[in-house]
Amino acid sequence: MLKDDCLFCKIIKGEIPSAKVYEDEKMLVFKDIEPKAAVHLLAVAKDHFKLLADMNAGQAETLKYMLEKIPQIAAQNGCENGFRLVINQGEDAGQTVFHLHIHILGGQKLPWE
Ligand code: AMP
Ligand code: ZN
Repeated sequence: MLKDDCLFCKIIKGEIPSAKVYEDEKMLVFKDIEPKAAVHLLAVAKDHFKLLADMNAGQAETLKYMLEKIPQIAAQNGCENGFRLVINQGEDAGQTVFHLHIHILGGQKLPWE
């Protein structure tokens, strides 16, 4: 279910514009507005939940589906040499949008330090 006061739910509903790169009935992938790598995409489920810890069985199925789809979507959007996935959870990770999302980073050699 989508939430009225959630930024990413509004993007999913089309109430806020986004640079979409992939969409189907279960998920949406769009460009991050403040990219932290040459390619920075966000993958979101079309179902609102905040944390992996909150996820129900159906949402876990959707997350699995997203992880299966992401390699091809990444490769088609400039990450043919690899990519990194990040899921920020909670305050210490600096999560700012409380609709679970997967950052897809690539298009360059990524620093790891
Ligand atoms: P996080 O800090 O993991 O919660 O990630 C939230 C991400 O959403 C950040 O990387 C933001 O740059 C990105 N973001 C915020 N607003 C928008 C927007 N309107 N369109 C696309 N990305 C956004
Ligand atoms: Zn939401």
